[in-house]
Amino acid sequence: MERYSPHATARRRTMVLAAAGIFVGAAILNLVEAMIPGGPPLSVLPGIGALCLAILVWAFAGRLPDAALFCLGPAGATLIAVAVATTDGPGDGAILYIGAVLWQAYFFGRRGAIAIVVWIALVHGLALLYLPAGDAYFDRWLDVVASATLVAFVVEFLATRNRKLVEQLVDEARVDKLTGLLNRRGFLERADAEVARAQRETTWLGVASFDLDHFKAINDDFGHEIGDRFLARVADLLRAEMRESDVLARMGGEEFVALLPGQGVEEATAVAERVRKRLQDADDPEQPSVTVSAGVVSVVAPENLDDVLRAADDALYEAKFSGRNRTITRMPEGKSAAAA
Ligand code: GH3
Ligand code: MG
Ligand code: MG
Repeated sequence: MERYSPHATARRRTMVLAAAGIFVGAAILNLVEAMIPGGPPLSVLPGIGALCLAILVWAFAGRLPDAALFCLGPAGATLIAVAVATTDGPGDGAILYIGAVLWQAYFFGRRGAIAIVVWIALVHGLALLYLPAGDAYFDRWLDVVASATLVAFVVEFLATRNRKLVEQLVDEARVDKLTGLLNRRGFLERADAEVARAQRETTWLGVASFDLDHFKAINDDFGHEIGDRFLARVADLLRAEMRESDVLARMGGEEFVALLPGQGVEEATAVAERVRKRLQDADDPEQPSVTVSAGVVSVVAPENLDDVLRAADDALYEAKFSGRNRTITRMPEGKSAAAA
């Protein structure tokens, strides 16, 4: 099943809006030029065609398949070719191909750029052949095709670079710089998907929340920089204890959370205990000694993420309250079990 993506929907809306705007603009231009006294005799058919396409695109925006959208650039170029072929005199509407080129190359990348250039080469060639024989038709054709190629590939290059930068920023906005783990935002997005999957497949979803004990004292005694390095080390340790399918995040400060898909109460508790013991038993004279408290919960097909996270936090609070350096597991029937 394809997941709903707000970015894809917004992109499609921009695409449709831009196409409708270009078609309306071209139609107005065509009608205005036809009304200017003294201009070359001009058919208004291409303008009417552009207006019809704008209405169609607008009305069926949400239902148009991608293949139909892909044809909009070539459809616009065809209307311009008709305008070129039905205009007497030296006026050259060929510059208007640029609208189709920009749109197609921007929204459909290299595939779109190649398609629109090839299409323009074809329809503009036919339009020139249709006109009464004249000089320099090949030159006119070549000028148009060369310009369209240049614009198409520059736009495609810039659009691709732009898209990659945006993707990079979007990724970075979901990652915690200090530890390289997901941050809260990244975690919540991934966790939503895991909750949906556990519901669909009726499987366990375990959560282990961790909070370092008396971490403020580490900063006070050793300085913030050592504190930061320690947080990065804890992240490495957590990573080492997780499976590929687990989702690990630094939720803020010295709090971490692990989402453990497919792991029941005992397995999730065992993961948290391994982490706790490794920190407790760490015996490095170069490093400050810090323990961790953990709250664990695991639910089959959880109804929502908030309840699971809250239950794990309640268990963590209980672990803190009952002395720290321990794991408390919230059992499915609401009772708690301690492991220390
Ligand atoms: P508790 O056992 O109750 O959790 O005590 P605690 O001191 O760990 O908890 P508290 O919430 O009072 O303090 C958390 C401390 O974590 C405060 C701050 O000094 C430290 N901290 C939070 N974020 C960072 C960070 O990014 N880097 C460093 N070095 N320290 C941080
Ligand atoms: Mg804390
Ligand atoms: Mg703490």
